[in-house]
Amino acid sequence: MPTATEPPPKRRPTVPQARVRRMKTADIRPFLEAISAGNPEPRTELHYADPFSLLVAVVLSAQTTDAAVNKATPGLFAAAPTPAAMAALGAEGIGPHIRSIGLWQSKARNVAALAELLVERHGGAVPAEREALEALPGVGRKTANVVLNEIFGQPTMAVDTHIFRLANRTGLAPGKTVREVEDGLVRRIPPDLLRRAHHWLILHGRYVCKARQPECWRCPGAQWCVFTPKPAAPARGRRA
Ligand code: SF4
Repeated sequence: MPTATEPPPKRRPTVPQARVRRMKTADIRPFLEAISAGNPEPRTELHYADPFSLLVAVVLSAQTTDAAVNKATPGLFAAAPTPAAMAALGAEGIGPHIRSIGLWQSKARNVAALAELLVERHGGAVPAEREALEALPGVGRKTANVVLNEIFGQPTMAVDTHIFRLANRTGLAPGKTVREVEDGLVRRIPPDLLRRAHHWLILHGRYVCKARQPECWRCPGAQWCVFTPKPAAPARGRRA
């Protein structure tokens, strides 16, 4: 303890920390409602007819675009519309249908194996439990979150590259890891909006709050977003 005659201990120089800016809690609802405008009941852009075809489409969509998956899946599901038919088709039969998609060989093996397991363990149905979904080959937490959200209406948040960027950029749920962002979004987004917020954020990231440059000048949520400085509209004739 310093006495009255001792000089006060020197303060340690403080290390400058990057300031994490968060969107105010009260601003989250109006922000989400603004970016949702015109699309109150959003759905995934992947084409699917039933839980099985969604599950397969999501597995195929890893590191590729929904549009690329939508081009490949009609032929695949025409050849094998059920888990039993897909298992019978096998990786060799699946491969030629999905060759235009990245990582097609490992995806073909995963789809064949998951179809087999669906038949063996779940009578050919897609399970509604996270644990059972994540036990399937090629199915991680993100894929399980998409299926639970889209098919079973559960308020999950599958964090893809768009959502990760938006959560940090807008201050909605800053985080260094995917799981940190997921937990932050689930905690902060009002429960009645959470299920639909997943789609709104993806669409907003895809078409407005783009990776290379956010198009803040036409963003309906700009007044609540903490990102700064917000770029102005490019001069006419130079828009991307
Ligand atoms: S204001 Fe800009 S940074 Fe914020 S959400 Fe809109 S487009 Fe993204």
